[in-house]
Amino acid sequence: MAKKTRLIFLGPPGAGKGTQAQVIAELWSIPHISTGEILRAAIKVETDLGKQAKSFVDQGELVPDHLILDLIKERLGKSDVQNGWILDGFPRNVEQARFLDQLLTEISQSCDYAVNFEVPEPELITRMLGRGRKDDNEETISNRLKVYLEQTAPVIDYYRQQGILKSIDGNCEQEQVTIAVQQVVSNQGDN
Ligand code: AMP
Repeated sequence: MAKKTRLIFLGPPGAGKGTQAQVIAELWSIPHISTGEILRAAIKVETDLGKQAKSFVDQGELVPDHLILDLIKERLGKSDVQNGWILDGFPRNVEQARFLDQLLTEISQSCDYAVNFEVPEPELITRMLGRGRKDDNEETISNRLKVYLEQTAPVIDYYRQQGILKSIDGNCEQEQVTIAVQQVVSNQGDN
């Protein structure tokens, strides 16, 4: 795809955002920006960010906004974002979404679509338990789902009101979901 595409991937933990972001970013040669991945890498090598974020990630809580907002500002300041990007796991609350709008205005960019992956909760739990990440144990999973409903789900309405929300069925084969994302993004104006 030659066009510059800028997408936000939304959806509950375990919905397949990360997997789809990786596949699509590779297909379109654009960066996949996952705040969760950045945090896990920082925790692994014990940077200041990693040390401050660790207990939040381990418990399935959101890392405080001030840590995340600096991180995303720095990432979107890099030159590789000029051809497009996929944001995966950010924004995670309405404050982060507002900050992103302001930041994009400052750097003269705009998001094309917020793509919301819909997957029923029992399937989310099965997927997360099968993933084996440190924060994929039963207790943390249930907290992440709670945090999602309370803090992240309102972001869906935020983008619906902006008219850029596209919801897709994430409860099917990985390849089918990838096709659905590509269709949604190329059928511009079809809401
Ligand atoms: P993810 O890989 O997107 O599931 O994120 C894993 C964990 O990283 C989350 O449970 C949060 O603790 C933290 N995290 C990732 N992105 C954000 C964000 N945008 N704001 C706050 N915390 C985040």
